[in-house]
Amino acid sequence: MAARRIARRDLPDALRVAPGTRFRLRDPEASRTFGWAREEVELATRENLARLSELQYKMFADGRFSMLVVLQAIDGGGKDSTIRRVFSAFNPQGCSVTAFKVPSEEERRHDFLWRIHRRVPARGEVAVFNRSHYEDVLVVRVENLVPEAVWSRRYAQINDFESMLVANDTRVVKVFLQISREEQKRRFEERLAERSKQWKFDPGDLDKRARWDDYRVAFEAALSRCSTESAPWYAIPADRKWFRDFAVSQLLRQELERLPLRWPKPAFDARGIRIV
Ligand code: ADP
Repeated sequence: MAARRIARRDLPDALRVAPGTRFRLRDPEASRTFGWAREEVELATRENLARLSELQYKMFADGRFSMLVVLQAIDGGGKDSTIRRVFSAFNPQGCSVTAFKVPSEEERRHDFLWRIHRRVPARGEVAVFNRSHYEDVLVVRVENLVPEAVWSRRYAQINDFESMLVANDTRVVKVFLQISREEQKRRFEERLAERSKQWKFDPGDLDKRARWDDYRVAFEAALSRCSTESAPWYAIPADRKWFRDFAVSQLLRQELERLPLRWPKPAFDARGIRIV
């Protein structure tokens, strides 16, 4: 029997990791579609993208608010294609994308949030983080790159940092793209098989795959401990790309619609000006 379709506006809430609860990463969640069928979703996504364009334009003109989108995923989760497909709605003027890699020599000489803070959006802008400060409690924790005494303090530091951003008019939207272990296998195989995708395959990803359970525990901790009222996490089922794009675009749309955006008041009386 088909699942009852959840109302579009209720989708973000259904995907939100409720603050203070324990988030569990379960494979079957990754392919959920909440009763939506592909064709209707594709139409709804197109509408969302059109609306996102308008909203971003107004936010840019308004110049008081900004939006930071944090994207995290298990390898193969589709961060790159989400950026390509959903963020294409945004005018590049006013939108930045930063991919956070292994920290450089200089970055390592600072606290872990230093490189992050430099890339948060200015007023009026959208910034997308492809990986983020969460790597410092994910890969860093699993690979023991710093002692537990150091990484375990970071959850609270992250919450403080994000709540400071929110208090300064930045919406912080945290998106976790969830794929199943089976789907990851399929995507890795596809990368190996297709010449145009081989460049995306990193043999190191297989080590991470072998440590799936360790990563699962680390993701569960990050999402449980850092989903807050002001900056909640959203766990997006991402096995089906069309549903993923729909869910992310719906979430971003609702985030921007919640802002009291207004057109700036002109410093002149437009009716009194004649262009000759
Ligand atoms: P992606 O896999 O996102 O397409 P890359 O293949 O360049 O991009 O991978 C970036 C790598 O940088 C990942 O393995 C990630 O775990 C690592 N990385 C990011 N931030 C940190 C960090 N703070 N400490 C250690 N490694 C990090």
